[in-house]
Amino acid sequence: QTFPGDFSNNPVQRNTPKVLFSTIRPVGFEHPALIAFNESLSEEIGLGKYEAKDLDFLVGNNLPENIRSYATAYAGHQFGNWAGQLGDGRAILAGEIINESGQKTEIQWKGAGATPYSRHADGRAVLRSSVREYLMSEAMYHLGIPTTRALSLCLTGESVVRDMMYNGNPQEEKGAVIIRTAESFLRFGHFELMSAQKEYKTLQDLADFTINNYFPEIQSEGDQKYKDFFESVCRNTANLMVEWYRVGFVHGVMNTDNMSILGLTIDYGPYSMMDEYDLNFTPNTTDLPGRRYAFGKQGQISQWNLWQLANALYPLIKDEKFLEEKLNTYGNYFWESHDNMLCKKFGFNELLDGDEEFFTNWQGLMQELQLDYTLFFKQLENISIDSDLKSILENISYIPLQEENIKKLEHFVQRYYERFSQNTISKQDALELMKKNNPTFILRNYLLFECIEEIETGKTEMLNKLTTALQNPYLEIYPEFSKKRPSNYDDISGCSML
Ligand code: AMP
Ligand code: MG
Ligand code: MG
Repeated sequence: QTFPGDFSNNPVQRNTPKVLFSTIRPVGFEHPALIAFNESLSEEIGLGKYEAKDLDFLVGNNLPENIRSYATAYAGHQFGNWAGQLGDGRAILAGEIINESGQKTEIQWKGAGATPYSRHADGRAVLRSSVREYLMSEAMYHLGIPTTRALSLCLTGESVVRDMMYNGNPQEEKGAVIIRTAESFLRFGHFELMSAQKEYKTLQDLADFTINNYFPEIQSEGDQKYKDFFESVCRNTANLMVEWYRVGFVHGVMNTDNMSILGLTIDYGPYSMMDEYDLNFTPNTTDLPGRRYAFGKQGQISQWNLWQLANALYPLIKDEKFLEEKLNTYGNYFWESHDNMLCKKFGFNELLDGDEEFFTNWQGLMQELQLDYTLFFKQLENISIDSDLKSILENISYIPLQEENIKKLEHFVQRYYERFSQNTISKQDALELMKKNNPTFILRNYLLFECIEEIETGKTEMLNKLTTALQNPYLEIYPEFSKKRPSNYDDISGCSML
């Protein structure tokens, strides 16, 4: 790939030159109802306690005059192709609030109505996708992973028609609005849009704004400032990918418009936590057969996305050698961080020669025996020579029990013991390391499925239980949630239509 990149093949002509946003007000809903409110987030960002009168605000009704809500324009590469101008098609920003300690938070509604960037879509969100974003973004936050967050989940009282991809039939679903928050919702795509339109002054203003507000550690000037910025984005992005690998999160739609410039997990669509370990796993049924955004590809794809960002920032950096060098060393940084992360999951205090081979063998075992990623590491914390490997295998493998597989697991446990004995920390400290890095609770797709079915009937018992569980992912609060996926859900494990 070359700089400054080829944006000439632009299929979508933007009708808003020199514009990064448009003011737009939510449509308003006559019969909203609250499903969930995130009180601790509300307190933290400075919004305080929820009162019944706040329901209007949560769905964007009757906004006070001092709120000048807006939607932003961005561009993006979707599934490897330049898609031209896109934008917040169903997200409307209320603006930014500041809490007592000066921390700034942007607030936006998702599903509160169409915007100038909705194209032919309706700007609405359905209950099922809203529940998925509300719960998963909070689950990621409590796992300790950078993410946008969710403040509230409301029914709009209106129904929304969606084509169901699995049967091609339009279906009426309940409409919903969530409020989500982030320090900033800026994406790679915002920079790509300005660059593609050759609006270099605005590109620079945008970069300066971003650096001044969100990268206070960058103190350099001139071209160097933008170099440091790009380097920081690369590092944050790599760190985020490693965190996704740590817990088995598969995003599903890593288009550049879904890449946060701050390295946050953003745009919860057909994502899924991985049950059985599989590098080829993708929850996105529109990403077949290519599996561009499969679990095992996320590191590589993040680098590809950073190439696009480098192209976009080229007019400010003007140094091909620098950008190429940064992008080429990205892989090394990513793999080193990745392998160090795996070490912690295994309870190893440092990466040693030979670990790469150990990891490769382990991956082979995981895939061949179809072992549950999360449960495997929990079992490893307690495993010993005398463990009943047969019952362990029954609890964590998704294929029928076979004698030879018990042998394979036994062989691995022996190798693990040998490697573990090279540790230079105590067994107790190693166990601590494992407990901190291996979640007990992950928000599995089938749990979301059950939760959504229940909410559709007006009940929230499961929602409340899942909320408690996801707020404490390193503890076992509900043992029934720390089991492998029941076999009756095998076929929904990779279903994007949830
Ligand atoms: P996504 O695949 O979620 O990243 O969405 C791609 C683009 O389509 C984004 O710009 C979204 O804002 C927009 N979009 C998705 N769904 C809708 C909708 N129901 N109404 C308007 N715009 C939408
Ligand atoms: Mg998106
Ligand atoms: Mg989306």
